[in-house]
Amino acid sequence: MDKKIIIAVDGFSSTGKSTLAKEIAKALNYIYVDTGAMYRAVTLYAINNGFVLNGVLNEDDFLKKLPSINLKFQYNTNLFRSEIYLNDVNVDEDIRSMEVSGAVSKVAALPPVREKLVEQQRSMGLDKGIVMDGRDIGTVVFPDAELKLFMTAAPSERATRRYNELKASGKAVQYEEVLKNIEERDYIDSNRQDSPLRKAEDAIEIDNTNLTREQQFNKVMDIVAGVLKSEKV
Ligand code: C5P
Repeated sequence: MDKKIIIAVDGFSSTGKSTLAKEIAKALNYIYVDTGAMYRAVTLYAINNGFVLNGVLNEDDFLKKLPSINLKFQYNTNLFRSEIYLNDVNVDEDIRSMEVSGAVSKVAALPPVREKLVEQQRSMGLDKGIVMDGRDIGTVVFPDAELKLFMTAAPSERATRRYNELKASGKAVQYEEVLKNIEERDYIDSNRQDSPLRKAEDAIEIDNTNLTREQQFNKVMDIVAGVLKSEKV
């Protein structure tokens, strides 16, 4: 039987982590997990329940409600991909709003939130055969992952990609607003106390500013093939 591995994909916001992670998972017939969607769903809960007012998070009251947040992924056979459910409601679309993007890094910086989500993420990787993307996958969630990738790209390139994506899905946004949000999230994610975004020592860095999707995919699949052949596995 083929050996299965864990592939951790970390990096800055809008570096195309999830696009790449999804493509690799599909090619290998692995499970794909978008951990950003989990932090976003918890943030949506905080917003919908009045714990974020004018951009300020009421931490204490929100954390009391943490045990009542239940997240799961469910495969949508029409879309051929998993969608995230918050307390049994499909929120896959709602978690992509600018309102959620504006608050998510504050929510994700809270240690009890991270503890809860990391536990769930580890349980999803017990059988390996998983590609997980996020900010702390190679450093905290799966420090022993057989392959760790760290994605980067120039901020202006990332903002352009994200802006085009949001526009394409019919959202009214300004380019400057998108760029500002990306820079703010990078700053908070990299400077928080608990599990800051950083490249694991043994991660392979991929700067895709000047790579097409296809070039990037081929490059990474070569790396995956090398790892699968290596003695490590
Ligand atoms: O991946 P995405 O950009 O959707 O993630 C949204 C936010 O969730 C990030 O900016 C970060 O604050 C948080 N996050 C995190 N740890 C992860 C994944 C996401 O802190 N593993």
